Amino acid sequence: MRIDPEKRFGKRACPGCATEVDANQNRCPICGYEFPHPTGPRTWVPVMALLMIFLIILLWVL
Ligand SMILES: [Zn+2]
Repeated sequence: MRIDPEKRFGKRACPGCATEVDANQNRCPICGYEFPHPTGPRTWVPVMALLMIFLIILLWVL
């Protein structure tokens, strides 16, 4: 199982010109709008939470 936080949303609409921009691009190629940085320490909190839930379930089953 592999979770890529960058590709989870696929595309997002640019607030400047409403163009669909790839989620892994931080800058709109049409108008040059810069998206707020999506990656950071918070991105992997859900991944850690999933891992913890998985471990808890595994311990319950065993
Ligand atoms: Zn734009």
